[in-house]
Amino acid sequence: MSSRPSSPPPVSELLFIQAFGGLGDAFACVVRPEGLPTPRLRLVSLDAARLLGIEPTPNNSAAAQNWAELFSGNRPPTGCDPICTVYAGHQFGNWAGQLGDGRAHLLGTVRAPDASQNGGHTHWEVQLKGAGRTPYSRHGDGRAVLRSSIREFLCSEAMWHLGIPTTRALCLVTSPLPVVRERMETAAVVTRLAPSFIRFGHFEHFAYTGQVTALRTLADWTISQLYPACAQTVNPALALLQEVVQRTAHLIAQWQCVGFIHGVMNTDNMSMLAWTLDYGPFAFMDGFDPDHTPNTTDRFGRYAWARQPSIARWNLLALAQALLPLIDDRQAAVDAVEAFDATFSRSMRGLLQRKLGLGEARPGDDDLVDRWLAAMAENRADWTLAFRLLAQLSANPGDPIPAALQALFATRPERMRAWIPDYRARLQANESTDAERRAAMNAINPRFVLRHHLAQHAIARAEAGDFSVTQELMEVLRHPYSEQPDRDIFAAAPPQDAVAPALSCSS
Ligand code: AMP
Ligand code: MG
Repeated sequence: MSSRPSSPPPVSELLFIQAFGGLGDAFACVVRPEGLPTPRLRLVSLDAARLLGIEPTPNNSAAAQNWAELFSGNRPPTGCDPICTVYAGHQFGNWAGQLGDGRAHLLGTVRAPDASQNGGHTHWEVQLKGAGRTPYSRHGDGRAVLRSSIREFLCSEAMWHLGIPTTRALCLVTSPLPVVRERMETAAVVTRLAPSFIRFGHFEHFAYTGQVTALRTLADWTISQLYPACAQTVNPALALLQEVVQRTAHLIAQWQCVGFIHGVMNTDNMSMLAWTLDYGPFAFMDGFDPDHTPNTTDRFGRYAWARQPSIARWNLLALAQALLPLIDDRQAAVDAVEAFDATFSRSMRGLLQRKLGLGEARPGDDDLVDRWLAAMAENRADWTLAFRLLAQLSANPGDPIPAALQALFATRPERMRAWIPDYRARLQANESTDAERRAAMNAINPRFVLRHHLAQHAIARAEAGDFSVTQELMEVLRHPYSEQPDRDIFAAAPPQDAVAPALSCSS
């Protein structure tokens, strides 16, 4: 084994290879990013930098400038040319045809220094988002504004620290370059990391254009890179589908359980790795409303919280359809997708069981969970606070109910009051003490999530040139399950006068 260098190399020594680009012209084209004028490195995720084994803190202005030049797209990566990939997709249930990386450039693939630290991933793809127009930009400008880039940066890292699979955010580079949206804003580039950015839509593109040979190449590549065990099966494409179905079911259960609403679950935003991908008009639920969607362009609530599981299944059916020429067994493909429901339910039930501190499942638990969720919905109880505060309730029927918990259910307290004795009786059946249960619940119910009003405040300050709030927020979100008693303000529900999220696609 080679000995480890004493300090990680600077970013200028990062060596890229173009693995996906090697598949050929049908899959991607070489595109030089337009880059950014006067780029400035504003945010770095030290945790993400560690994945690449590069010097995590640009500790002087020359080093920071190196980061800014590379991760704005101004300076080409060493070792290969950046590429943009072609994909298609179903958007809001309709076939949208060819889409592709309209504002993303894949700089290349970097070897992970230590796969054991990386969940076994030996490579990371490094992708710029917002570095200018590409052949797939259609009518877009290839840009991402500072506001949406901060949201993607913060949420990627927050999700990771919550323990939810997600693309990572390495850094954020800003520029005075004006960008026209509903108002005049400025451009930024987020650098994202993932073992692969392959989407369901990549497969749909080749299936819908009848390119079966390319479809097979893409499936073989995906299997070899992400799911090598599938290659050993009699029907590798079917095994691939089954794997993606199972993982997506677990992912969506995790989203549901932290109250995360993606906002644009189009098939082009669904990752073959089943990692959270493309942070746009997402939100974490404040007051629990199952029909809530933060996406103002989603007028019928297609992508509302309660619909995410059925939409994921719908998207998986679209993937199955695209893979059918390779699977060559319609019924097996349908069966693979139908397995989603059972896996999702099992995963969701298991997580909710833990969120309520119920321990081993017993008859009647599902009903207890459902009644709790109904009481929450009836009161629009804050999703994050309700679970976190429930941990403070003792199992002893004679003890008072914590006032902060009661306050969440003040509008319609009856259902909650009727529920508590049953919940306490159920807790009595467990062997764990209140303290043990509390610790277990606090390890699965975060105290801190990226609430909309927190992101908005950080963005407002950043737009005025002060990134300290964003940095502090990032630090808080690195430890979402810790109490962090001096950070109460980051755990609070939005103030009464907070403006509800009004977010749209593609900002
Ligand atoms: P999204 O809704 O962000 O997932 O984007 C859907 C499609 O539109 C993808 O092909 C994106 O690359 C493309 N797109 C979104 N915003 C822009 C933009 N500002 N410029 C060019 N393409 C974009
Ligand atoms: Mg997208």
